[in-house]
Amino acid sequence: MVAESLNKDTEHLWELLREVPDPEIPAINLVELGVVRDIEKVGDLVKVTVTPTYTGCPAKQFFNSLILEKLKENGFDKVEIITKLSPAWNTDWLSDETKQKLMDEGISPPTMDDKVVTCPHCKSTNTKEVSRFGSTPCQALYSCKDCQEPFNYFKCHV
Ligand SMILES: [Zn+2]
Repeated sequence: MVAESLNKDTEHLWELLREVPDPEIPAINLVELGVVRDIEKVGDLVKVTVTPTYTGCPAKQFFNSLILEKLKENGFDKVEIITKLSPAWNTDWLSDETKQKLMDEGISPPTMDDKVVTCPHCKSTNTKEVSRFGSTPCQALYSCKDCQEPFNYFKCHV
């Protein structure tokens, strides 16, 4: 669920930002990730409201530069990025479709309390954490006790 503006002017901008993949999980884009909260156009100034997935996320700076770059490439030179930390990013902002995309990538989608982690391979919740830091700082390495497969879990907290 994205708080998408109904303004026709910004529809094209939403489309552009849908083309920006998450630097850590290229299968999903910044809009699907819920990082891009709002886009507003005031004259020729584009205001993008961004909520990072979590405040300690090292990808945070990348999000902003990726957004700026994408808009610049398409002729939008005046861009203001507004970082909004409240309400905090939460897993409800991921649609079921996005969660399924993560599963297809072998990544378990985040749950708010990090307690029940579902294996993306066999859907078992009988899983255990192997390492707090997986292939990227935002992911933890887990293994499934049922199918024995290792997988990444998309963390909500560091
Ligand atoms: Zn499994």
